Amino acid sequence: MSVQLQNRPEAFRQFALRRAEELKQMVTPYLKQSNTIPTGFLRSELYEFRRAKILSYFDATLEDWENWHWQMTHRISDSHVLDSLLSLTAEQSMEIERVGKTFRWAVSPYYLSLMDGTDPFDPIRLQGLPTQAELFDNFGEEDPMGEEITSPAPSITRRYPDRLIINVTNMCAMYCRHCQRRRNIGETDTHSPRNQLKAALDYIRANPEIRDVLVTGGDALLLSDLTLDWLLGELHAIPHVEIKRLGTRAPVTLPMRITDELCTILAKYPPLYINTQFNHPKEVTTDAKKAADKLVAAGVVLGNQAVLLKGINHQPQIMKKLNQELLKIRVRPYYIFHAKNVKGTRHFIPRIQDGIAIMEQLRGHTSGLAVPTYIINAPKGGGKTPVSPQYLISLDENKAILRTWEGKYIQYETP
Ligand SMILES: *Cc1c(COP(=O)(O)O)cnc(C)c1O
Repeated sequence: MSVQLQNRPEAFRQFALRRAEELKQMVTPYLKQSNTIPTGFLRSELYEFRRAKILSYFDATLEDWENWHWQMTHRISDSHVLDSLLSLTAEQSMEIERVGKTFRWAVSPYYLSLMDGTDPFDPIRLQGLPTQAELFDNFGEEDPMGEEITSPAPSITRRYPDRLIINVTNMCAMYCRHCQRRRNIGETDTHSPRNQLKAALDYIRANPEIRDVLVTGGDALLLSDLTLDWLLGELHAIPHVEIKRLGTRAPVTLPMRITDELCTILAKYPPLYINTQFNHPKEVTTDAKKAADKLVAAGVVLGNQAVLLKGINHQPQIMKKLNQELLKIRVRPYYIFHAKNVKGTRHFIPRIQDGIAIMEQLRGHTSGLAVPTYIINAPKGGGKTPVSPQYLISLDENKAILRTWEGKYIQYETP
């Protein structure tokens, strides 16, 4: 008896060691693949080299580069300029020019510096530069989310009981090729006029059930410091507005927008959440980290809303890597959105099966913190609908059948 007891811990240890070996084997294929996935951190020297090339083209300095106004006034939106900065074939250059006549495009010099000069399938290039696939889309809708019919007051979209969106601008540092609000990206960049924002604020003041206000666009951080200070201050002063959120891709496409001055303003209005949109591990760069560090120091809570895009990030290992890289810079993966059926973007729409496969490969296989919710926006403005692999196989009064993350079926007796 006593011999047996003494041996038991050893038997447990042997059991745990065998299990640990099994777990190690489980992650090994991913680790092999993971090493071949390019990340922003690994490529920082390359990015610096391209930055130098762009600066020399514009005859500009590093100080210019760090100035977000310089980045905005030097956005590349001309195929000839692009031609001097990337190695385009004559055909590619003509294609960009042709598509550009129908769909506007513009890329910040910073985002351009992340682009592969030669690979037309580079995930950064696919997000930033137009391709003729955009013209071949006869099925997509202008406004699949029905945003035009959910606006009870100027600049406001309200789809949920306790929260709403204020649209403050149609401007962005880059016009993403997968943009769901393409219809708003006209020839001109405009911020919503002050009197419209005032009307939006009046609506929020008059509706005390609104406890969460999401300021977005376009890109909310393209507002001036002055306007942001005013708008956040107004929202902060409304007692029933418990939390404020900003929607912005600036940490990804224009990280120099995150200045000390901006952070001083943001720090005044807690609790403030910023949701951004990193779609590929290549976007998680040293500059993005610097921006995230500053925002965190200002007390901002960071989240990521990735868009699932065919040919860019629809493979499980890319999404896993992206979410792990994001946790390294304190950005918590929040949503993965299934790309919407927006006219001109259909070539990016993945299969729902791709999204499910990604979620299956995340849960249990990596930190729960790296597992966002996969969302399909129901057509006609039906709202965000979570979709996930099935873990609850059956449920009745006495028992449930569960499927574990490893695919084991287990019966759970309800007490
Ligand atoms: C996405 C969205 C929100 C925010 O939704 P959460 O699930 O709370 O992040 C709010 N209003 C509208 C109109 C939206 O589309």
